[in-house]
Parts: sequence; C-alpha cells; structure tokens
Amino acid sequence: MNSLFKSISPIGLLLFGLWSCSLDDAAPVLPINAVDPIPMAKEFYTQEKPKQVNSSFRIQTEQEIFPFWAGAKIHAGGRMLIVPAHRKVQVRYEAGYLRRFVFELDERGQVIRGGMLELAGKELEFLLRNEVLLVEGFLAGVKSKDLTYLWSDFVARPLDGIQADGRVVALQREGGGKSRLDAEALRTEFCIDWYWVYSFNGVVVFEVFSHTTCGSASCDSARSADAHDACLDDGVGAGGDGKEVQIIKDPSFKETAADCIYEKLLSINGFKDLASKFEGLGTEFDVLLKIGTTKSVTANGQTWYKGPNQPIEITFNVDRMNRSALEVARTIVHEMIHAEMYRALNTQGLEDSDLSFKETFEVYTRQFFGVEDIHHSYMADYWVDKMANMLELIHPQLGYLGLNDFLSPWAYPAGIPKDFYKALAWEGLKDEDVRAWNNKTAEQKDQIEFHIEKAKYGTKSCN
Ligand SMILES: [Zn+2]
Repeated sequence: MNSLFKSISPIGLLLFGLWSCSLDDAAPVLPINAVDPIPMAKEFYTQEKPKQVNSSFRIQTEQEIFPFWAGAKIHAGGRMLIVPAHRKVQVRYEAGYLRRFVFELDERGQVIRGGMLELAGKELEFLLRNEVLLVEGFLAGVKSKDLTYLWSDFVARPLDGIQADGRVVALQREGGGKSRLDAEALRTEFCIDWYWVYSFNGVVVFEVFSHTTCGSASCDSARSADAHDACLDDGVGAGGDGKEVQIIKDPSFKETAADCIYEKLLSINGFKDLASKFEGLGTEFDVLLKIGTTKSVTANGQTWYKGPNQPIEITFNVDRMNRSALEVARTIVHEMIHAEMYRALNTQGLEDSDLSFKETFEVYTRQFFGVEDIHHSYMADYWVDKMANMLELIHPQLGYLGLNDFLSPWAYPAGIPKDFYKALAWEGLKDEDVRAWNNKTAEQKDQIEFHIEKAKYGTKSCN
C-alpha cells in the first residue's frame, strides 16, 4: 500500500528540504511557515467546538475528547498540524488504533479544515511509523484499502466514514444501531464494548470489535487535563499486553515542558531514528523517561543501564529543568544518545549498524577509562554534528525567531550561525578526559563557551 502514497510524499520531502536549507544560510531567513500554525489551530478549535457540542453523538457516552496541544506536531512546512486527542475514560483497545486532531492550513496560515481522524486496521507500530504519511494521504483524498478511516468533528460526530472500498464505517456500541446512547448508559452499564460497523448502501455488512470503555465516578469527577492517569486515554491503542510502545513516560515526566519538547523532537529527522530504536516489537530495550534527582547534583541528566530485561532509565535533573527549551532539548538528545549506546552494546540482535558500532566502541573502551569518558569521547567524535543538526531543526519550534531577534543586534549580526548549534552539542562533553575537547585550542574552547552562553537567553516555554 505504500505505493499509494508515493505521489504524496515527495511534496512533504520537498517542503521539508526547503525548510532545512533555509536554516543553513548564514543570513537569518524566515522559515516558510512564518505563521505559527498552533495558535491558528487553537483559535479555529475554540470557535468551532461550541457550535458542535449540542449535536454531539458519541460525546455523551465516551466523554469529551480534547486536544493535547503540548504534543502538537507541525508538518508539511506548517500546512499540517497533528495533535494528540485525549479523553478521560478507561479504555482497552483490541487492536492497533490511533486518534488525532488534524488541522489543514493554507499558505497564509489560515485553517482550511480541522477535525478528528481515527485510524485502525493495522498494528499500532505501523500506524505510528506512517502517521504523517497516512494523515497527509487522507487530507489529499487517498485512503488505503488496508485501513479503516473515520473523520469526525471535534465532538466525535462522524463527517466522513467512507472507506477505500466504498463501505461506510461508524464506531458504535454493542447493538448501537438500535439503542439510545447517553450519559446515563455509561454510568449504569459501567463498561461498554465498541465496534467498527461497516455498511454498504445502508446495509450492515460486518462488525469488528474495537475497544471497551469503562467509566467510573473517579474519571467522571476528574475530567480536567490533570486527571488521574488511569482515566487518560491518549488515543494511541494497541491490543495485547501493551508492550508495543516502549518509550515509557513516568508520571513525573508526563505533560511537563520536557515532555512537550520530547514530543516535538520526535518530528525531527535524526531524533526520530534514535527514538525508533526503542519502539516496535523487535526491540529488546525500553526507555523510561523521568524527572527527579540525579546522582550528581550538577548533572543535567543521567542515563542508567540497569541490565538485560530492564528499561534503560533516563532521569532529568529536576533542578535543571528551568533552562531554555533549546537547552533542555539538548539534554534530551544527549541522554537519548547514551541510551542508544547502551542499547547497541547490549542488544542480542545482529543488525549490521549495531555490529559496526560495537567494533568502533571497543577501540574507545581500550583508550579511555570509565563509562562516562568512553561514552563522551565517542559522542564527541561521532555525534556532535548530528546533534547540531537536530538542534538546528528543532529550534524553529522552540523560539528561534525570538532568540534570533534578541541576539542579532549584539552577538550574531548575520543571524544565529551553525556554530551555535555545534557548540551547544559540546555542552556535556567539555571535559579534559574527552580527547576531542582536549585537542581544541583555548580560542576554540572560548568560542564554544561564547555560543553556549547565548542559548541561555532562549524561551523556556515549549508552546
Ligand atoms: Zn553524558
């Protein structure tokens, strides 16, 4: 089915290519999406939603679905916005399922349409991996025969349930075609089974069990954004034991600014690949992200390899989370590289890339003492440029324009240079036991410090 989308993906690639090229120029160049689509989408949502509430269909039983703006991701050069769609209900999905709020914008940043897209019919890993392509395809009117699509308004009232084969799908409770759906039913029946119901020319052809929702008094009374986790359905569902998503967020990390920054990083080439090493059925190691105290009080973060069959634990220092969003992004990338090195060294899989890494890494273990020096020396030699690229790519989503405006009159007359991002990557690697740092001249070191200082002026907010 990938061939179906081949006609669409080059457009996305082209836009992305143009966007990253513009950042390579020394002079400050406005990105194509000079208009931030998130406020536009928020405004659209705020205006549209009240009009839709009274005629809602599923909202009465499945409760309110709300956009989790902190997890919003911008695609197609600002023309497409994908936002997690959360609700406060206990749910168990039978198979892969993905629910998102989607906004399509024109080149002036105006919202053309917005709504809720639900995808099912393939495992979650597939849906997540191809999410952008699938949404882009849907907006372009292309649907895969292997998937179920349901497009609804912000209160889950179906607008487009037509499938690739011409059937029409609806998400209905057991016997939903006949019985009334209301809040009373949710309260009295406690748990409700939901089915994808496919019909053709108005005649039901078949049904597939989708999920079970269970309301409870505690979910009902906690329908705010900070409601109890057990009641949070983030719209990302998989059958079985839920092992498919393997980057685990501790409650101390969830919905913090760091979480928001992490979610944005997932849209960045390079970081996406880093994170994908821990996701999917074939991977051996999970990563646990949390915020707390680190063994070294001055560390920004620490990564702890606890052994086989244990998640690799990344702790971000709670006292160091108040830095600029770009600095926090730098720390997240740095710690994820540690985690990736632990994974590659300890995985039983025999991927070529892992094998060649192990070989190179052994040279470092012979040359340096202590896990930290070995890791950091390797990182300094192999990751600085890649880290710099990731930071440069994420910066437009973390206050690039504001920082550039602030710094250009006195620090960067020609705009924020590439060296700024390279220097930032050196933070955490500036140690006399790191060979590549040691080899730098005093002048080079001063330059790096100069740039690192400038990152502190960046915005702290992620949204
Ligand atoms: Zn480190």
